[in-house]
Amino acid sequence: MTLLTHKVIFLTGGASGIGEACADAYVKAGARVLVMDKDEVSLNQLISRLGNEHAGFVGDVQKEADVKLAIETAIARFDKIDVIHNNAGIAHPSKPLDQTTENEWDNLFSINLKSVYWTTRYGIEALKMTKGCILNTSSMVGSIGQENHAAYVATKGGMSALTKAMALDYAPLGIRVNAICPAGVWTPMLREWATQQPNPEAIENYLDNIHALGYCPEGDVIADVAVFLVSEAARFITGCIMPVSGGAELGYKK
Ligand code: NAD
Repeated sequence: MTLLTHKVIFLTGGASGIGEACADAYVKAGARVLVMDKDEVSLNQLISRLGNEHAGFVGDVQKEADVKLAIETAIARFDKIDVIHNNAGIAHPSKPLDQTTENEWDNLFSINLKSVYWTTRYGIEALKMTKGCILNTSSMVGSIGQENHAAYVATKGGMSALTKAMALDYAPLGIRVNAICPAGVWTPMLREWATQQPNPEAIENYLDNIHALGYCPEGDVIADVAVFLVSEAARFITGCIMPVSGGAELGYKK
């Protein structure tokens, strides 16, 4: 027996980066996963690597019909859902608020935050049956801010606040709701941002230095904590906004 034996996990944005590391860790801990992602090629590669006992669903977390069908597919395939992990997200554009277009603002909020509304609307009945839990991939920047990312920061601040509100609403049903907050993690999203900066080498140093522990990690460090938070070992933890940030919130070192 391992920490997640017999658990069924519905994971969004699992075809890359932090989500992919979580998919690997959940499977290693004994869970079966349905991964929803809009990137069909990467998703198919992930599922062939994980094996046929797991499932992929190509869809857009912004879209009500896609989320509804993805949840229904998970229940039809696995009979239940124990965990919903809302991980899909985007970070671009890198701009102060006044230069952010309405479309960019709406897109960020729709993918990063409204998606949690859809998975909850359509997934909560399944979680009531299992007394399951919800895990949200938020970010340290949602509480400490970040230059040139106002709209993104607002989505993550919103996600952390939403986590606490949902934890209170669903605690009477035995459903836990927590958030995991990385600072920087080397993923395709972060690499794309780093290469767009005027001096990408300086960025690598910067990303190491914002973490008090002195390095910018890969997704596995986040995934290990995710496994704990969705497991029975964390059965008395809810409404927790858990930094997995190497101490970045203790103060940026420039
Ligand atoms: P990533 O780009 O490597 O992976 C994101 C995944 O989400 C991709 O597979 C992508 O296809 C999927 N996705 C994006 N939009 C989608 C949509 N509309 N519908 C379905 N799938 C969609 O990014 P990552 O760095 O692994 O980020 C994952 C999460 O972690 C995000 O919520 C991000 O905000 C958060 N986060 C990342 C960092 C970091 O430094 N990388 C730090 C803090 C928080």
